[in-house]
Amino acid sequence: MTSFAVGAATDTGQVRAANQDRYLVSEPVFVVADGMGGHMGGEIASEVAVLALEAIDTVGSLDELIGRVQEANAAVVERARAQPELRGMGTTVCVLADIERPGSDRLGVANVGDSRLYRLTADGLFQHTEDHSLVEALVRDGRLTRAEAAVHPQRNIVTRALGIDEKVLVDAWELIPVEGDRYLLCSDGLFNEVPEPEIAEVLRAQESPEDAAHELVERANDAGGRDNITVVVVDVVAAGSFDALPADRVSDTRKALPGGMLASESPEADDPPVTRSVFDPPPDQPSAAPPSVFTWRLAAMVAAVMIVLVVMVVALLQVGRSGYTVVKGEEGTVELLQGEGFLWFEPTVEVETDLVVAGLPDLDRERVEAGQEFETRSEADTYLAYLQTLVDDGS
Ligand code: MN
Repeated sequence: MTSFAVGAATDTGQVRAANQDRYLVSEPVFVVADGMGGHMGGEIASEVAVLALEAIDTVGSLDELIGRVQEANAAVVERARAQPELRGMGTTVCVLADIERPGSDRLGVANVGDSRLYRLTADGLFQHTEDHSLVEALVRDGRLTRAEAAVHPQRNIVTRALGIDEKVLVDAWELIPVEGDRYLLCSDGLFNEVPEPEIAEVLRAQESPEDAAHELVERANDAGGRDNITVVVVDVVAAGSFDALPADRVSDTRKALPGGMLASESPEADDPPVTRSVFDPPPDQPSAAPPSVFTWRLAAMVAAVMIVLVVMVVALLQVGRSGYTVVKGEEGTVELLQGEGFLWFEPTVEVETDLVVAGLPDLDRERVEAGQEFETRSEADTYLAYLQTLVDDGS
């Protein structure tokens, strides 16, 4: 039997009104869940998922663990059905579980969404999970670099979550428990604020898992705390028995694990700040002609010029203020609009795609039907590119 030492911490952060993250430390499972959805939906989704997983007494196989995550999904879906105001709520889950099989203990990992599992070893900090997020899909597609993704304004948009569909695709795999390994489960509120080398440094410096968890939450808050922050640190104190594999076989097994990306130990240079276009201030109004040369014709010209100036200023303010919205057009396809209706200015259709809204996955279909807003054109284009990849993948 594998034994663990565990520490956990969660915080609302500096900006959000409520904490929609939940964690669970209840052997044999350790969980981080990051809820999303208005009207309390986010809190409820993560809470329902965690309560479903808390009922687990033992995990005998990886399939059993996946089944438990499916049950948690069903529980969130059911709750959303029962309360229409909670429609569209969802939650990520990242689960580390002790799989007890006589003679071959394993750790099971199950992941849906963009919370993460890392493992700290003497060699470094490894990210074991793959984010189910818009930016991760674009990185895989070669449309964004990892450095761009790390600061992208849409990095909180997930592509998989519990509570959206009857069935959810769960990433799952097994790891061999190794004494001395330290695992970190966390919500995006940690890794979006604290660079991975700094996370590794804290995990190395703090001996107790409890201290490590609290210091990581504190660092995320110091860095801005723009999202809820949740951290669970799990130390493997004594490894369970597993079939006596030769040493080389053990390391092969570990290398072959999916998602075992080496987390970057050297932060890449930050992108240059986005340059925003600044509108030139309106030219000064022409000075009124001296009364001695006043004519009705001149007055009419001045009035005409002033009207043109007012229209230009209003138009510039409108263009400068308004953003972009990805919507469902009259043909049922995805369109990009610029601007919001204002005085006699109508939003303009900037891009018409042939992507059929009804054919999108539920999460994105709902976003487009509700009108997904973006501040800049490039953010909106990124989202359109992402929607295109969904169709290209045939998913
Ligand atoms: Mn979050």
